[in-house]
Amino acid sequence: MSTVKKYTDVIIRLPADTARSVLGLTKSKGIDIRTSDSGDTVGLPEATEGLLLKVRLLHPQARFAIRKGRREEKLEVELPEKIAALMNCPNPSCVTSQPKEPAAPEFKVVREEPLTLQCLYCGRYVPKGGITPDLFEVTRFIPPAKSTF
Ligand SMILES: [Zn+2]
Repeated sequence: MSTVKKYTDVIIRLPADTARSVLGLTKSKGIDIRTSDSGDTVGLPEATEGLLLKVRLLHPQARFAIRKGRREEKLEVELPEKIAALMNCPNPSCVTSQPKEPAAPEFKVVREEPLTLQCLYCGRYVPKGGITPDLFEVTRFIPPAKSTF
């Protein structure tokens, strides 16, 4: 059984007018959003590693930190080599987009700058601009088989 890595008191610095995109990714309560012309800051009482990875994929220029009292500690959100069951493939013909196929989308990080992913099933490249919040709506995911015992 895998455990979900969680962080508390996370601060995310984003380009101006992009904080709303983070709200769509989490149901977390107590989110603190500050906006200014130079950028948005989102404070999350709690965030999973998956959530931070989604923000990193949507906004490659995002900066992460953990609040420790009055100090902040930089948090590096590393891109894994493979991104599995986190986002959908934008290709509607991809096998992972078919509701009856028990395949969870999996992507390879082809390049970090500019960010480019490649679907391991259909081979489609997903450039930075192709990663949109709707790809994180997990409605098409088939949950992994669960033991009933
Ligand atoms: Zn695909």
